[in-house]
Amino acid sequence: MPSVLWFRRDLRLDDNPALVEAAADGPVLPLFVLDPALWRPAGPARRGYLTASLRALDAPVAVVEGDPVRRVVDAARAVGASRVHVAADFGPYGARRDAAVEQALAEHGLELVRTGSPYAVSPGRVANGSGRPYRVYTPFSRAWAEHGWRAPAETPDGVDWLALDDTTEIPDPDLPDGLALPAAGEAAARRQWAEFLDRIDRYDDERDRPDLDTTSRMSVHLRWGEIHPRTMLADLARRRSAGAAAYRKELAWREFFADVLFARPATAREYLRPEYARMRYDEPGAALTAWQEGRTGFPIVDAGMRQLRATGWMHNRVRMVVASFLVKDLHLEWQHGARHFMRWLVDGDLASNQQNWQWAAGSGVDAAPYFRVFNPTSQGRKFDPRGEYLRRWVPELTEVGDPHDPSPEDRLATGYPEPVVDHAAERREALDRWEEIR
Ligand SMILES: Cc1cc2nc3c(=O)[nH]c(=O)nc-3n(C[C@H](O)[C@H](O)[C@H](O)COP(=O)(O)OP(=O)(O)OC[C@H]3O[C@@H](n4cnc5c(N)ncnc54)[C@H](O)[C@@H]3O)c2cc1C
Repeated sequence: MPSVLWFRRDLRLDDNPALVEAAADGPVLPLFVLDPALWRPAGPARRGYLTASLRALDAPVAVVEGDPVRRVVDAARAVGASRVHVAADFGPYGARRDAAVEQALAEHGLELVRTGSPYAVSPGRVANGSGRPYRVYTPFSRAWAEHGWRAPAETPDGVDWLALDDTTEIPDPDLPDGLALPAAGEAAARRQWAEFLDRIDRYDDERDRPDLDTTSRMSVHLRWGEIHPRTMLADLARRRSAGAAAYRKELAWREFFADVLFARPATAREYLRPEYARMRYDEPGAALTAWQEGRTGFPIVDAGMRQLRATGWMHNRVRMVVASFLVKDLHLEWQHGARHFMRWLVDGDLASNQQNWQWAAGSGVDAAPYFRVFNPTSQGRKFDPRGEYLRRWVPELTEVGDPHDPSPEDRLATGYPEPVVDHAAERREALDRWEEIR
C-alpha cells in the first residue's frame, strides 16, 4: 500500500521511526506543506533555513502550499494512500492542526499514524509521584533519565519514493543584507555533531564563554529534526567525560521545557506564575528598538543582539543577559523579547524560547529568583574576559581601552551610544516593582 510521510520538523531520513513505518507500508510520498499559519510569522532566518533544509533533504520531497487539513487529504488521495505517517507534534498549534487533519482524513477512511516525536522521551510521559508533570528541572531530569529511550531507528534501504503532480517550487526567500545562516540539512547536522564530539571534553568548563564559541551549535539541527536527540544520546552514552554528562543535562532542559509547554500550553503567551502579570511594566518604545538593533550602549547586550541579526543564533549566556536586560532594566514584558527572538532565531522553538524567557523574567517553572538581576557589565567581564566576543560583534569597540565599559570619551570618539538606562537605578526599580507583587 502506498503511504504518505508528512515531514514537519523532522527533516531527516536517519533514525526516523515514522519513515520506518511508512516504508513498511510500501511506496512513500514524501510531503511537506508550506502552511501559511507558520510561514507568515516566520522571519527571514527561519524561512531561509527551512527552505535550505528542504532542499538538502535526501528525498524527492513534494512541497505543497495551503491549509494542511486540505492539502494532506488531497495528497493522500492523489497517491492512493490509506495512511499518513508523522512524528507526533506536542506544541499547541501542531497538536491542534494534527487533530484537525486526523479528523479530515478519517472522513475519507484514511488514518493519521503518529510514530515518535522530536524528543527522546515524548512530553507527558514523565510524571511525578502524584502523576503530575514536574515543575522543577532536577527531579524531572532524574525521572527522564530513568524512563530512558529507545535505540536509534534503522534507516530503511531503498525507499520507493512517490511523486505528486501538483506541487509548488521550494521558495527561495531573500535574506536581509548581513544575515548569514548555518549550513542546513541532515548531512550538515551530522558533520557538526561529529566535529563537536571531538571537542566535547571542553564543553563542561567552557560552555558559558561566548568568546571561545565552544558550544555545539546543534540547536538549529534539533529544531528542524535534522538529527534526533536519541542519536546524540546514544553517542553520549559511549563517553564517560564530564563534558558528555554536562551536554546530556542540556538536552534534558530541552525535553523539560517541551514537557512544561505540553502540560501548560497557555504559557506560550501567558505568565506561568500569574502574579507576574500584575507587575508594573513599561510600554515598548525607543528602548525596545535600541535593544532589538543592538544599540543599548551596554556592550554585551549589543554584541548578542547583533550576533542574532547576523547569524540567526546567539550564545546561551548572552541570551540570558539580554533577556534579563529587557525585563529588569527596560521593564518590558518578556513576550516582546520572545517575539523578537522567534523572528530572528534559526533555532527558534516555541517551547525552549518561551520557557527560557519566562525563566529569565522570573515567571517560569524553576525560574531564576527575580531579585538576582544580571549586571550586564560584570557578566561581560566574567564570561568574555578579554573582550573578544564584544570586539567581534561591536567592532567600534575594537580600539577602546575597556570595551566592557567604554568611557564617555571613547563613546563620543567611536560613535558607540551612551547607555540607554542607568543599570543600578533600574535594578532598584525592578526590585521595587517586584516587592509590589510579592
Ligand atoms: C531567552 C532564551 C531564549 C532561548 N530560545 C531558544 C530557542 O528558541 N530554541 C532553542 O533551541 N534554545 C533556546 N534557548 C536555549 C539555549 O540558549 C540554546 O539552546 C543554545 O544557546 C543553543 O546553542 P548550542 O546548540 O550551541 O547549545 P549547547 O550549549 O551546545 O547545548 C546543547 C543543546 O542543549 C539544548 N539546550 C541547551 N540549553 C538549553 C536551554 N536553556 N533550554 C533548552 N534547551 C537547551 C539545546 O537543544 C542545545 O542545542 C534559549 C535560551 C534563552 C536564555
